[in-house]
Amino acid sequence: DDLISQIAAGEVVERPASVVRELVDNALDAGARHVTVRLAGGGIRLVAVEDDGVGIPREELPLALQRHATSKIRDLDELEAVATMGFRGEALAAIASVAEVTLTSRSAEATDGCAWTLEAASGELRPAARPVGTTVEVRELFFRTPARRKFLKSEATELAHCIEAVRRHALARPEVAFAIWHEGRLLHHWPATTALVPELAWSRRVADALGDEFVEATLPVQAEAGPLRLRGLIVQPQAARGRADRQFAYVNGRYVRDKVIAHAVRSAYDDVLHGQLQPAYVLWLQIDPRAVDVNVHPTKIEVRFRDAGAVHQVVQHALEQALARPRA
Ligand code: ADP
Ligand code: MG
Repeated sequence: DDLISQIAAGEVVERPASVVRELVDNALDAGARHVTVRLAGGGIRLVAVEDDGVGIPREELPLALQRHATSKIRDLDELEAVATMGFRGEALAAIASVAEVTLTSRSAEATDGCAWTLEAASGELRPAARPVGTTVEVRELFFRTPARRKFLKSEATELAHCIEAVRRHALARPEVAFAIWHEGRLLHHWPATTALVPELAWSRRVADALGDEFVEATLPVQAEAGPLRLRGLIVQPQAARGRADRQFAYVNGRYVRDKVIAHAVRSAYDDVLHGQLQPAYVLWLQIDPRAVDVNVHPTKIEVRFRDAGAVHQVVQHALEQALARPRA
């Protein structure tokens, strides 16, 4: 089973940023409103994610580390319409097979009023103190597999990937506050936008996570077609140069790399950019969960639309409209 976990780890855990992605997924699934990410050594020495979600009851702590133990799916029907980020029950087991993992949690329902820490390697459980929520600490990634550790890049590069992983989540969840620390220094703090009306909340979060200049260089996108709802920001053609790294697409709150969406975006820009560039965008697509399969890739970064043609058409059309409309 340890071997199977390690193989699964190869698919799910590629570098520290993959750990960040999985742990933040879990924090959001647990209903966190504040997510704090603490890193050391670019995330290679430490990734710790602290949340104020519902927590894990003491007796379920060992289960959280077991392969295929998920509290999120009960039957195949739910797998069809999965709304949570995680659903395979694989991430923590995989991470624990390639790093030193410690879980500390206090459940909202705990009657002992106490938090508990579980050391994954030894199985030791000891009382701890913390408010309701969970902290997962992952130390020394790939310490037992030096060959894989060797493939990691410099600390600075791994750190940049970790930050990008948090940014991807942050752009999907403006109502959640995110903080990123590296070796005791606060690198980013993106406050919750709950006090703002929804449209302002989204652009505030984009401004915080991508910069005011990014928002100023964009045009708003909005479209609805049946159960499909699209909104977002796309860069104005004249500002499109050199922003290829700023392409964020979300399907039902999940960050995706999707060929259908990417192609629709390029098609919309075709007339104005003459095939030159990769335009920057942040697009949020809401679609009936049954019309999209998220179970195609171990890291859930790819999706498959039941009606890809319809998605392509809505995205391309909405962008063409946005590009044709001069900025007010
Ligand atoms: P999955 O997210 O696919 O269920 P994971 O391996 O990521 O699988 O997590 C296993 C289980 O551990 C989750 O189903 C959940 O019950 C629990 N868990 C993990 N992280 C947290 C957290 N931050 N807060 C509450 N529960 C958590
Ligand atoms: Mg998970």
